[in-house]
Amino acid sequence: MAHKTLCPYCGVGCGLEASPPAVPGKATNRDKEGRPIWKVMGDKSHPSSLGKVCVKGATISESLDKNRLKTPMMRESLDEPFRQVTWDEALKRIVGKIKTTRLVQGPHSICMYGSGQFQTEDYYIAQKLLKGCLKTNNFDANSRLCMSSAVSGYIQSLGSDGPPCCYDDLELTDCAFLIGTNTAECHPIIFNRLRVYHKKNKDVKLIVVDPRKTQTAEAADLHLAIKPGTDIDLMNGIAHLLHQWGLIDSVFIDEQTTGFVDYAQVIESYPPELVARNCGISVEDLQQAARWWGESKRVLSLWSMGLNQSSEGTAKNRTLINLHLMTGNIGKPGAGPFSLTGQPNAMGGREAGGLAHILPGYRLVKNEQHRREVEKFWGLTPGSINPQPGLSAWEMIQGLEQDRVGVLWIAATNPAVSMPDLERTKAALLRSPFTIYQDAYYPTETAEFAHVLLPAAQWSEKTGTMTNSERRVTLCPAFRPAPGSARADWEIFAEVGRRLGFEQQFDFADSEAVRNEFIQLTAHRPCEQRGITYEILRKEGPRQWPCAEGGEPQPRMYTDLRFNTPDGRARFAAFHSRGLAEPPDGEYPFVLTVGRLYGHWHTLTRTGRIDKIQKMHPEATIEVHPYDAEKLGITEGMMVEVRSRRGWCRFPAKITKNITKGTVFAPMHWGAMWGDRTEANMLTHPEACPTSGQPELKACAVRLIPVTPE
Ligand code: SF4
Repeated sequence: MAHKTLCPYCGVGCGLEASPPAVPGKATNRDKEGRPIWKVMGDKSHPSSLGKVCVKGATISESLDKNRLKTPMMRESLDEPFRQVTWDEALKRIVGKIKTTRLVQGPHSICMYGSGQFQTEDYYIAQKLLKGCLKTNNFDANSRLCMSSAVSGYIQSLGSDGPPCCYDDLELTDCAFLIGTNTAECHPIIFNRLRVYHKKNKDVKLIVVDPRKTQTAEAADLHLAIKPGTDIDLMNGIAHLLHQWGLIDSVFIDEQTTGFVDYAQVIESYPPELVARNCGISVEDLQQAARWWGESKRVLSLWSMGLNQSSEGTAKNRTLINLHLMTGNIGKPGAGPFSLTGQPNAMGGREAGGLAHILPGYRLVKNEQHRREVEKFWGLTPGSINPQPGLSAWEMIQGLEQDRVGVLWIAATNPAVSMPDLERTKAALLRSPFTIYQDAYYPTETAEFAHVLLPAAQWSEKTGTMTNSERRVTLCPAFRPAPGSARADWEIFAEVGRRLGFEQQFDFADSEAVRNEFIQLTAHRPCEQRGITYEILRKEGPRQWPCAEGGEPQPRMYTDLRFNTPDGRARFAAFHSRGLAEPPDGEYPFVLTVGRLYGHWHTLTRTGRIDKIQKMHPEATIEVHPYDAEKLGITEGMMVEVRSRRGWCRFPAKITKNITKGTVFAPMHWGAMWGDRTEANMLTHPEACPTSGQPELKACAVRLIPVTPE
């Protein structure tokens, strides 16, 4: 029997069907080494992906049995080897350490760094443990590095988080505006859908904004290869022309928004000649983009880390949303600002309160009424939840540097590869007095910094729900046993909660009971999900929120043109760009931009163990424009040392006109385990958006030094 589930890689959230290796009367499915493996195919009945699947989803089962952490392990100090222990020993040590650290250093010395790989149930129980019972908001997730600027942008412009669009809009739009997203490689199934529709409909326009000529840009009618960091100039320049030409929706602006007058004044100072010069594009291309925006009845924008990973990430998100508001492109089919999530359940994390400034049900830590609602629901005394946001991802690193962190609990993520400024990150991790690392795999780069290792069950081994980028919730059942004594993340958090004395708060029979509790906290909230129970998901299949109890799922938000602000109107906000936090200069004359490759995922924890993907992308390279290569004497394949103010790497050169002059590109996947000095985040810096706390991983200043063979 095939089991229906969800791909555990990216936020597209494709439906999968997994069949067991051995079916009576049929040949056993085996990998190239002859090991029996589960056969995985696209689920044709899943409405988000309609049976399509990319190489990552198709090969997921090959990673399941390799290098798994099967039992808890411990050591007293980092220079000792790990020794195998029982769960009881490991949990006793963790609980003892949490108790004494809280007593000596206070509740805010406890931190948890989680992951968009969590199921929503894992996220929810972690919030209850940290924010409710342990009285610290120091829970953050790797989503902070991925899409927290989109969260801030939506909240500030529209009154609450939540991408308002759905994938059907890809086939209903007149103009798709893709900025800061290499969708063809990073969200391939979404892009295929858009590409097929675009090819069939000659009048539909596809605009791609990216300093690189990616596979996404190659499919575009118009590729705007702007200089890194000039996104706000470009979007204000488009707004200037729309306003000048009268291609705006005055009725929508008057009736559904506030702040347009101030915004209109700011965009006045973005004439096309100035914008084109700043962005490094032609005036004609800028005008073409503005004309397509203004003359299309339905404009859909897509973006991901190219806008979000910026020291002005929230401003970039809001500047893009401004374009939708001034042209009335929201709340209707084929139109809207649609941010794409990187992780498979980053959306579920947002719903369950899985960042340091939010609480379950799209509530805010800073909002007193929200805190009281959650405390009451959790059976805690008023005042239990701290009114201040906790430490964000990078602030935890700073907390370690300042000896403010006593217990660091890392789960389902690999910060020793994915954080910016890795030298500094690793030095901070070394200072941690007590680190718990909970993961499915061992070894990983982060495990090197742990005192306790806890084996986690993963995809196919635990039951829970995940929400994809179009707000669609899928039930992901367990259909294989977890290896050794590995447990679901939420079960581990709940067990620690009970051992800390919160028996009532963590008395759950199973993950269905966890979801049943969580969805009550979404009642009458923008992410309402009481109509999305396990029972309904089993019967009806994946469902989109908002969906009230007994109600129908809503494919789009804001169809009534009422936003989640107190007066129901969306907010314009005007921004001038500050440019890159670390612009190139005489000493470091190039801008390094980092990104992802089609086959690999994050820090190679899974895909590094899949032969087909390793063959597809055997090594990290650095992309250099031929003009720059010639000036520096770099030839194809030559080893190039890349230096920033923080560290250095070495990559073979890939000389290509697909990158703009003065910019170089390296993939971010490779950690210390997988290559020699190919950790791109050795070079990046942690300067973050002051509103979202998302670091500017996308751009830093570097210099290139060709390495002459000895
Ligand atoms: Fe998985 Fe994303 Fe590929 Fe779909 S597009 S199969 S969700 S990695």
